[in-house]
Amino acid sequence: MNIPRTSFPRVVIIGGGFAGVSLAKKLSKQEVQVVLLDKHNYHTFQPLLYQVSTGGLEPDSIAYPIRKILKDFPNFHFRLANVEEINTEAKKVITDIGTLKFDYLVVASGSKTNYFGNTEIEKNSMAMKTIPQSLNLRSLILENFEDALLTSDLNERNALMNFVIVGGGPTGVELAGALAEIKKGILPKDYPDLDTRMAQIHIIQSGDCVLKGMSDKASAKAEDFLEKLGVHIWKNVRVTNYDGKTVTTNSDLTFETATLIWAAGVKGATIKGLDASEFITRGNRILVNEFNQVKGFNHIFAVGDVAFMETVEHPEGFPMMAQPAIQQGKQLGENLLRLIEGKSMKPFEYKDKGAMATIGRNKAVVDLPKFKFQGIIAWYVWMFVHLFFLIGFRNRMVVFINWVYNYVRFDREARLIITPFKRTLKSKF
Ligand SMILES: Cc1cc2nc3c(=O)[nH]c(=O)nc-3n(C[C@H](O)[C@H](O)[C@H](O)COP(=O)(O)OP(=O)(O)OC[C@H]3O[C@@H](n4cnc5c(N)ncnc54)[C@H](O)[C@@H]3O)c2cc1C
Repeated sequence: MNIPRTSFPRVVIIGGGFAGVSLAKKLSKQEVQVVLLDKHNYHTFQPLLYQVSTGGLEPDSIAYPIRKILKDFPNFHFRLANVEEINTEAKKVITDIGTLKFDYLVVASGSKTNYFGNTEIEKNSMAMKTIPQSLNLRSLILENFEDALLTSDLNERNALMNFVIVGGGPTGVELAGALAEIKKGILPKDYPDLDTRMAQIHIIQSGDCVLKGMSDKASAKAEDFLEKLGVHIWKNVRVTNYDGKTVTTNSDLTFETATLIWAAGVKGATIKGLDASEFITRGNRILVNEFNQVKGFNHIFAVGDVAFMETVEHPEGFPMMAQPAIQQGKQLGENLLRLIEGKSMKPFEYKDKGAMATIGRNKAVVDLPKFKFQGIIAWYVWMFVHLFFLIGFRNRMVVFINWVYNYVRFDREARLIITPFKRTLKSKF
């Protein structure tokens, strides 16, 4: 990998997401060599992926080059590499570009979509976990309307304009709200010769409410906002299969659709070598102690979505969200320096800063530790917080300008089919 050997201990970080980047920043300008490995050369701001999928933002505005984030740090090295295996005995990682020895290893590989073993759903549905997946979804949504315009078969046309989202968490809710706004504001203008009122957006939720992790008030208000936007919410219904044409559920309910978006769950993105049952617990996450240390190792750690730390307040681990990842990354940075200096490490304490979701124009719900509010103020808070946490001044400016433009003009100009999404199952309705 062409990494120089120095006298400093080498910390290898797998993953340049929220956790990996905040850890690397904490270790900057310290007497350690940091090697960050990621299969992408950019950091993805996942909370805004749904805006890429729905043409509200260009993908570049929510991605940032990892090299640039850490360009001023001495002793820092980035390699574009897919880590395939971890050899804990030999203290090395095996990647598609070679192997690398480490003194300390931090797994910050995040999470991946969880299909709960249903391979047919995995094959036929759309996920929204990465920028390429969001671009595929954007293409598919637009291709559906182009195809709907061409077909004279009413069933096919309806299926093409029928969007089924599985999962009523923040991702499902935000995506449904954005699709509903497209239906109302964009489609009638773009497709005047298509009856776009027939377009339908469904959320299928296995539980009895949307935004389960938030307060009852936030959940009820989000439902109210969605219903006013014309989104159909199906609660206590579980999707059992999707063959690319029909969604079946555990009830009599079925949906004919060309687009099933799977937002029903994630699981830890574990790596061979640390994926044996002795290391893994609920949600396919790596079990760590209060210092983010992987069971049985002094020098191997996991942070962020992939790590499962059980505490009295969080017996099911911390939520798979940006804040725990950022806070764990920072804390581990301090702890690694303490460990190297022979000092005792400090246990991780999570500071819950709340949760929020937006449903659309002037509509958001915010649960802060002390206040809970909904509506237009919540929407401003949501925008401010997302702009604040975006990496890079240019990205913040571009996103802000896009949002102002979209708000004033009721528009979403990134509705472009740059790379068509190739469907294997087409026109079978
Ligand atoms: C659509 C969506 C919306 C979300 N909205 C919110 C929200 O509103 N608020 C919130 O707090 N959280 C939200 N989240 C969750 C939040 O994005 C994650 O909790 C957070 O990104 C976790 O950070 P992380 O550093 O653990 O992992 P990630 O940010 O996922 O980073 C993991 C990195 O590891 C890399 N990687 C993985 N495996 C390998 C490998 N084998 N080799 C090399 N590199 C590898 C990946 O390329 C990636 O860059 C959302 C997530 C999604 C998908």
